[in-house]
Amino acid sequence: MSMSEASCIFCKIVSREITTEFIAETTNTLAFWDIAPLAKVHLLVIPKQHHKDVAELSENAPQILSEVLSTATDLARKYTAGSFKLQFNTGAEAGQTVFHAHAHIISDSAKDGS
Ligand code: AMP
Ligand code: ZN
Repeated sequence: MSMSEASCIFCKIVSREITTEFIAETTNTLAFWDIAPLAKVHLLVIPKQHHKDVAELSENAPQILSEVLSTATDLARKYTAGSFKLQFNTGAEAGQTVFHAHAHIISDSAKDGS
């Protein structure tokens, strides 16, 4: 394990060192609510493997990126009315704060219409 992985908050979620309620788990991904939601629905989908951002994930494990995307769209179907943003902040200047690739699913149109 590299130093970045040892101190990585999302690796700690994967290893259960930090307890988080999972809303979905697939072979290579985990999903949970964002701790500081920006909208009514704000979910995160992460690969279990550590890759620092979506560019590295795409380069090194494209099949896992595909699994992140299908998990994200499944959850968007389940939690939103069909309109949502699917966002990968990449690089500090673009607002990335956790350097373990993750997809944000952000929507103000929750499925229940609230
Ligand atoms: P980014 O700014 O794209 O790197 O997104 C990181 C996101 O992770 C932010 O929206 C944070 O609110 C969220 N976050 C950080 N720590 C946790 C945590 N322990 N559980 C859930 N979400 C978290
Ligand atoms: Zn990590």
